[in-house]
Amino acid sequence: MAAAAPSTKGSLREDLTCAICCDLFRDPVMLTCMHHFCKPCISRYWRGTQGPVTCPQCRKEFSSKQFQTNYLVAAMVEKVRVTTSDTYIKNLEKQVKEMLESQRLRMEDCINSIRRNKDKMDTIKRVGADMQARVKGEFTAFHQILHDEEICMLEQLRREQEEEVEKVHRHSEAMELAVRELEENMRLLQQASADTENIVLTQLPQIKPCVQVNIAPEFDINAFSNKYMAPLQYITWRKMFKSLKPGPSPLTFDVDTAHPSIQVSRDKTAAVECDVMIPHNDHNKRFLQCVNILAAQGFQSGRHYWEVEVGSKPKWDLGVASEAVDRHTRIKLSPESGYWTLRLRNGSEYSAGTQPWTRLQLVTAPQRLGVYLDCEERRVSFYNADDMSLLYSFTNGPRGKAFPFFSPCISDGRQKPPPIKLLHYPPLALSG
Ligand SMILES: [Zn+2]
Ligand SMILES: [Zn+2]
Repeated sequence: MAAAAPSTKGSLREDLTCAICCDLFRDPVMLTCMHHFCKPCISRYWRGTQGPVTCPQCRKEFSSKQFQTNYLVAAMVEKVRVTTSDTYIKNLEKQVKEMLESQRLRMEDCINSIRRNKDKMDTIKRVGADMQARVKGEFTAFHQILHDEEICMLEQLRREQEEEVEKVHRHSEAMELAVRELEENMRLLQQASADTENIVLTQLPQIKPCVQVNIAPEFDINAFSNKYMAPLQYITWRKMFKSLKPGPSPLTFDVDTAHPSIQVSRDKTAAVECDVMIPHNDHNKRFLQCVNILAAQGFQSGRHYWEVEVGSKPKWDLGVASEAVDRHTRIKLSPESGYWTLRLRNGSEYSAGTQPWTRLQLVTAPQRLGVYLDCEERRVSFYNADDMSLLYSFTNGPRGKAFPFFSPCISDGRQKPPPIKLLHYPPLALSG
């Protein structure tokens, strides 16, 4: 048998085929000449032959009927027989089909994934471009404010400078007029003096009364420059506050919404829970179950931002509430019930008021919080106003009118609770 060269299954089958019966070897045996035959075939071939026998393939003569069983070839024949059987081939074909299908499905998954990634990248690029335009717009508006301030101040400076120069200039003109008149008078007097040599002077020559000249205007360098030798950047920055869109809104509490356990300061910028219930007559807008209060300023269009000081209060809720919220029953705070809030419990457990709550892991405890309401984009975002880091953002914000919402919460009463304060810029003195 030829060495099993890298052959196909067909040629291996050929190699393992008996030259007598032309079928796969049955009980293969090997003659001394190394040729293989089925044991029954070679036995039948040699049957009836006396004395020396020959190999049917190479015709080599052997003195006796000798052969050896070749177990290795037998095993190979068995393998080829099995692997070329119909059921085996069918099974194999089935497996190939299955594998093909599974590979096809995986490939489809990959292609779909690539397609989805392409869509995702397109979205990222589109949103990125939108955000770029937005940031650019904000800064352009900001530059414009600053630029306008600069132009305005330089114009004022130029006007003041011109006025000062003009004052001096007018004085100089008056002086020049006076000089001309004095020259004229002097000429008349000199004339008269010269005439005295020839004639007798009977009267003084008529001269013009001397022009009344104002005192020279003083230029007060200090008064002129004081306004500009100033903390100009800070002064301008303070002015810019009024132009910020949105700048911090100077909110006040709406006392008519306050739960009877909430005491509001006289200037309506501080609210604190108290032990006694404050009697009120008007309960129309008032929270009666939960210790809540709204700001007097409601919003239904545009973008708004406000800041609230919570200090070291261990417990509070704050955010935005729809005007339509039910104020007379106890309600879980969530966007579904008209509240977009952030909450603190036990001094360190911060959550966003989703249903269920979304726990937030904050690195530092904010003393001041910023709330941003974009009515058109229906976005409510919370910031740590100490460093302006974003804490949480709702993107399913209120439709229609909404009010800044606060709950100082009832504390355990061991200490005098600190108030929730509405921050104003520049800060107003709290009247207590
Ligand atoms: Zn045979
Ligand atoms: Zn032979």
